[in-house]
Amino acid sequence: MAKKIKCRLCETELDKTAVALTRKLLGLKATRFYCLPCLANYLDVTVDELLAKVEEFKEQGCALF
Ligand SMILES: [Zn+2]
Repeated sequence: MAKKIKCRLCETELDKTAVALTRKLLGLKATRFYCLPCLANYLDVTVDELLAKVEEFKEQGCALF
């Protein structure tokens, strides 16, 4: 099975959404993953804004989600 990916900052185990979002926003070759709160902090947005992005990508039929 896929190995568990942890947030590089707080070591929270990441769910599929956080992994997909990191890939989408930081690039497919991202090697550093962040949980949603850390990603929001890193990108200087709110978690709610990230979740809105997730919905947007899903609606676009993004294969990552
Ligand atoms: Zn984190």
